[in-house]
Amino acid sequence: MASENTATAASTDAEVADEPESALETARRQLNKAASLIDADPNVVGRLNYPASVHEVTIPLERDDGTVEMYRGYRAHHDGVRGPYKGGLRYHPDVTREESIGLAMWMTWKCAVMDLPFGGAKGGVVVDPKELSDAEMERLTRRFANEIRNLIGPMTDIPAPDMGTDAQTMAWIMDAYSVQEAETIPGVVTGKPPVIGGSEGREEAPGRSVAIVSRELCEYLDRSLADTTVAVQGYGSVGGNAARLLDEWGADVVAVSDVNGAAYDPDGLETASIPLHDEVPGAVTDYGEQTLTNADILELDVDLLVPAAVGNVITEANVDDVRADMVVEGANGPITFGADAVLAERGIPVVPDILANAGGVTVSYFEWLQDINRRSWSRQRVNEELEAEMLDAWNDVRREVDDRGVTWRDATYIVALSRIVDAHEKRGLWP
Ligand code: NAD
Repeated sequence: MASENTATAASTDAEVADEPESALETARRQLNKAASLIDADPNVVGRLNYPASVHEVTIPLERDDGTVEMYRGYRAHHDGVRGPYKGGLRYHPDVTREESIGLAMWMTWKCAVMDLPFGGAKGGVVVDPKELSDAEMERLTRRFANEIRNLIGPMTDIPAPDMGTDAQTMAWIMDAYSVQEAETIPGVVTGKPPVIGGSEGREEAPGRSVAIVSRELCEYLDRSLADTTVAVQGYGSVGGNAARLLDEWGADVVAVSDVNGAAYDPDGLETASIPLHDEVPGAVTDYGEQTLTNADILELDVDLLVPAAVGNVITEANVDDVRADMVVEGANGPITFGADAVLAERGIPVVPDILANAGGVTVSYFEWLQDINRRSWSRQRVNEELEAEMLDAWNDVRREVDDRGVTWRDATYIVALSRIVDAHEKRGLWP
């Protein structure tokens, strides 16, 4: 196995602090680290430290009681050198301009590592969706869609669901946009319900890609999946689908958790009979031989740990207690920069989020292809094409790991950044 030791650059930064950083700080740090490893043109890297544009809009919403409230919305475009902007829209009280820029940068790297012809975008509305009725959500969404109508489009910027938004939200945006354009344009958003151009297999896709890279990592390390014990934190869309597939492919899934705690059975859980978080919230702790806390699950002595719930769960405070031999990131940013450096020093391979959960944006790309070609693919075709795309990306990253002796995270960013820098160099700066 190639060396996992890239402590030099990482440990210098880790000395700074292990405060959970903002998405923008993380994205910039990862960009500049990867840039130093490939000797990228500093002029292009300088440009990539900034978004191409950030749009801020005000959305007046008539509440059900007749009063009108103003909400703030953002759409950040980071880099579009490889194609239309792509990224989610979140509805959350913590949405900010800076967070949108940082998350848009992550989308740029994620699309590039998957070699998808998209650039990175992100946005959202500063709102707590739990405080709005369904009718208010619809009015807010349609008005927001109208405010960003000149930015979005199937060849310019294609939003998708994110925290607080879902297939219904995308359906409203597609409808609002289509009404204004006087034609049905399903390719303006992805993550729609299949009946209006959504793709089969989209919901399971991020979990499926987590399972695929976990399987490939085991093979790379000459470990049999059948002899691999797995713990998955977060038994939701990503973690639940990953756990079920790994179980189906023969791994021993010994622990899974939701926000209330974990189910644990050293002989393996029967994941097919444990409902996912959105099927029966809180059901996880009714299963298994024993229950554990969410902190315990990260410290279990398993072969593979998949943190798939929320960000910043493995920090310098608990990283020394992580006993897994391999980590695959299901959630976005579950490991802080400082903790990541410690895992690298310990030689524990960590497959990063932008590769592991990229099945979501990849099937969004398939959805967009289906929409602009007015054809729908079977679930089997979606899954086969996803498998092929994941293996291509995995092999590109694996080659960097082998050739340069860097971590999986650094290798992933090297693949992504090389593609973006190459495209900038070929296209040039105009005027
Ligand atoms: P989800 O809401 O379906 O599931 C989240 C799970 O985590 C639930 O089981 C919940 O109970 C659990 N959880 C929540 N807070 C927790 C906490 N503090 N500690 C432990 N468990 C907790 O969400 P999801 O769609 O599976 O997303 C999970 C992560 O994956 C997020 O970081 C998300 O950004 C990322 N992600 C999701 C997608 C997607 O398309 N669903 C794609 C890429 C990345």
